[in-house]
Amino acid sequence: MNTFLILTMKSKLKCPKCGYEFEYKWIPGVSFTSIKLGKKRYMRCPECRKFSLFNIWDTRIKDKKK
Ligand SMILES: [Zn+2]
Repeated sequence: MNTFLILTMKSKLKCPKCGYEFEYKWIPGVSFTSIKLGKKRYMRCPECRKFSLFNIWDTRIKDKKK
């Protein structure tokens, strides 16, 4: 019996267009294999709805328990 472990990462992103800050959840591996931008992701700001390139890797929120 296998247990499915889905590891989700969270990043704190800031929209370069409107300055809106938001948290973004993503799954390592899945997102990086499908997108050729490496550690960045091209997506839409939930506030101003404009597309921007976000670095979701460097803005990771690290787990506090070490
Ligand atoms: Zn925005």
